[in-house]
Amino acid sequence: MMKNLLAQRANPDVTSALSGLFPTDTHPDAISFAAGSPRESLFPVKEMQRAFHDAIDQQGAHLFQYQTAQGNPELRAKLAARIGKWGQVVTTADNVVLTVGGQQAIELVAKALLDPGDEVAVEVPTYVGALAAFDLYQPTYHAVGLQADGLDLDQLEETLRQHPGIKLLYTVPDYHNPTGITMSVAKRRQLVDLANRYDFVILEDSPYRDLGYVQSPLPAIKSFDTQGRVVFVSSMSKILMPALRTGWLVADGDLLAAIMKVRFGSDLETTGVTHAAINVFMEENDLDAHVNVLKNHYREQCAAMVAALQADFPDEVDFTTPQGGFFDWVTLPAGIDTGKLLANQIIPQAHVSYVPGTNFYPNRDSHNGLRLCFTGMTPDEIAVGMKRLGDQVKAAVRE
Ligand code: PMP
Repeated sequence: MMKNLLAQRANPDVTSALSGLFPTDTHPDAISFAAGSPRESLFPVKEMQRAFHDAIDQQGAHLFQYQTAQGNPELRAKLAARIGKWGQVVTTADNVVLTVGGQQAIELVAKALLDPGDEVAVEVPTYVGALAAFDLYQPTYHAVGLQADGLDLDQLEETLRQHPGIKLLYTVPDYHNPTGITMSVAKRRQLVDLANRYDFVILEDSPYRDLGYVQSPLPAIKSFDTQGRVVFVSSMSKILMPALRTGWLVADGDLLAAIMKVRFGSDLETTGVTHAAINVFMEENDLDAHVNVLKNHYREQCAAMVAALQADFPDEVDFTTPQGGFFDWVTLPAGIDTGKLLANQIIPQAHVSYVPGTNFYPNRDSHNGLRLCFTGMTPDEIAVGMKRLGDQVKAAVRE
């Protein structure tokens, strides 16, 4: 009705990268590997309840007053120390900005950098939420492939030669969503060299970096940044709870100033009450010990999924072997559309779901991939669901 009044970015004829992503199946035997949610039974609810209570007790009415635009200084100091320790990024609380989830951090970077038509490079497949945020600023995308050790830097450099106007590169270097791939240290260093040479900003989005099941976190890309051109983003969603809606970024100099400028227009400041509670939570509890509990569960779930991919899937299918995070990426032979397969065959016949791969590509031009999330199901459920899925995939491949 009001269509003619809407901005192009809200054009209802263009679907958001996030719309219709998660298939629904209400069958009692349904097994879902679709939503990328953390496991609810592992949420530290009592501890967080106490932290909220204690934060309010400690600060009273003042806690509910307007606070600072960058967010709770004590929490920022803790996060700066944490990224120093586990990401080798030397920074201070002054360079940390608290945001409404990592999602807002991504959106703020896009808002600070992109005018319509500006050029953005993204690895493919990539995180759909980032595409949804970038889409609002109407960029031109350049897709760069992923290899087993992360972004294909030769392809990136070729793309940069052809399109020297590229302003921003978005990457998820640790246990990537949707593929589970991790970028090697050598590539992290080389990527910063490329950014310095070709003059672009790197948006390093790393909400899963704590959740490595094989080794400690690798140095962040940001740790190699000497010119203030990397913005590091992370989040409490995967290591605490997503409804806290608490993410954070680390930025320097002009970029930090630009991000703060656009942030004033968005929301003035973030949810200070929640941040004070998270700060108290981190004083009263050992966050690393909690992360270890998560890792012990997720490691087994991840192993169950990889074992099933090896045992129950046909040779024509490729899959990644993640060393952390939430996801596995499966590639079926070209010509199979995983969206149609899911809707027409797999859900009706096997009641198993995944996220079809198309939306993870900015130009929606690849259809034979699919994302599996292993955090929602127990190892036994994973074995059952993957057997059912593997049988369907075999049938589809041999058709
Ligand atoms: N980046 C990536 C790669 C993600 O997978 C997610 C959550 N799915 C986010 C950012 C945003 O998460 P949140 O806003 O909950 O921090």
